[in-house]
Amino acid sequence: MGEERVNILGMSPEQLVDYCGTLGEKPFRARQLLRWIHQCGVGDFDAMTDLAKSFRAKLNRIAEIRAPSVLADHVSQDGTRKWLLDVGQGNAIESVFIPEDDRGTLCVSTQAGCAVNCLFCSTGKQGFNRNLTADEIIGQLWMAEAAVRKSRGVPPGKDGRQISNVVMMGMGEPLHNFDATVAALKLMLDDNAYGLSRRRVTVSTCGVVPMMDKLAKECPVALAVSLHAPNDKLRDVLVPLNRRYPLAELMAACRRYFEHAPRDFVMFEYCMLNGVNDSDVHAKELVQLVRRGPTAVPCKVNLIPFNSIPMPGLSRSTDERIEAFAKILRDAGIITTIRKTRGDDIEAACGLLAGEIMDKTRVQERMAEKGIGTEGYIKTYTFKNVCS
Ligand code: SAH
Ligand code: SF4
Repeated sequence: MGEERVNILGMSPEQLVDYCGTLGEKPFRARQLLRWIHQCGVGDFDAMTDLAKSFRAKLNRIAEIRAPSVLADHVSQDGTRKWLLDVGQGNAIESVFIPEDDRGTLCVSTQAGCAVNCLFCSTGKQGFNRNLTADEIIGQLWMAEAAVRKSRGVPPGKDGRQISNVVMMGMGEPLHNFDATVAALKLMLDDNAYGLSRRRVTVSTCGVVPMMDKLAKECPVALAVSLHAPNDKLRDVLVPLNRRYPLAELMAACRRYFEHAPRDFVMFEYCMLNGVNDSDVHAKELVQLVRRGPTAVPCKVNLIPFNSIPMPGLSRSTDERIEAFAKILRDAGIITTIRKTRGDDIEAACGLLAGEIMDKTRVQERMAEKGIGTEGYIKTYTFKNVCS
């Protein structure tokens, strides 16, 4: 043994062709491998019966197919299923499967922690630990498809795919981990792998403008942008990256993206925070923002009721307030949905993915180290000043 084996789970179709080339194998071997691994969910080279025995033996010596191991697996009362996955060195990430009548959606993570530190997000409170590798990103889909099949009695194989949609809305900012994210996206889209259409794969970003342009060029999938505020003053506080890429730049980037996008709208996510960003005035400002002259962008708005995290000063808007906010947008002709909160009882809802394995007190310690204890935080950002 001794030598470390290469994990080929996250190799993009092109990388796998190159890898087979280095082993003296023809490009069609890469296609066969892709089909076995991703279409059929096989993780054992010996089961790949149309590969020569000698090639299988070689792969067994030098390569492996390894997804992050499952530390915990919870099913919510509403059928939502959440896995806690080990990515080493005390870091854990989460993936969530959301079953619906006409689809099965997997929400995947792209980083352990996140550097953006949005005020209302528990992943952000963890701080940034590290980028996930392509193996770890696609490994979530590979593992989840197999697990859902097993629980539903669907045998492994090409037919009967259970996960029809993927959203990169788990832990982390996908566009801060661009290369690994795109390698995983390419596998999701490839006909020899998962064969998902671009419309069924969504990248959610808090607005990393240059990388939105890069994504449009290299791998345009459906786009969700986490907006959360209709003006820079408030967004600077809620989504600190706004100080770097303010709203005018973000809206212009959305419009540019739209030219390449597989759908005829960009989805704006808006987390509803009681008394912070949920007034009629904010709603009208939001209409103005998405409509305004040269930066107008065809969009839909998805209102997400805030999932409570222990952050003084933040609470969920009332249902009445959310309805009133939605009505203003709808009356202005903007298609607006209100997200149903799923998996609440297993902490699988948006923004609650913090990784139970992480000692939560460590988060507090880290914040204290950075001089941003929770209280100080709220004091620095007094909502009264920014929510006029
Ligand atoms: N980093 C990316 C994707 C992961 S976050 C992004 O920010 O878009 C996925 C979504 O969950 C984002 O829209 C985010 O703003 C939202 N979210 C984060 N914390 C939340 C919370 N506590 N309640 C509701 N939504 C939250
Ligand atoms: Fe990061 Fe997204 Fe959470 Fe903001 S909302 S801290 S960008 S994961």
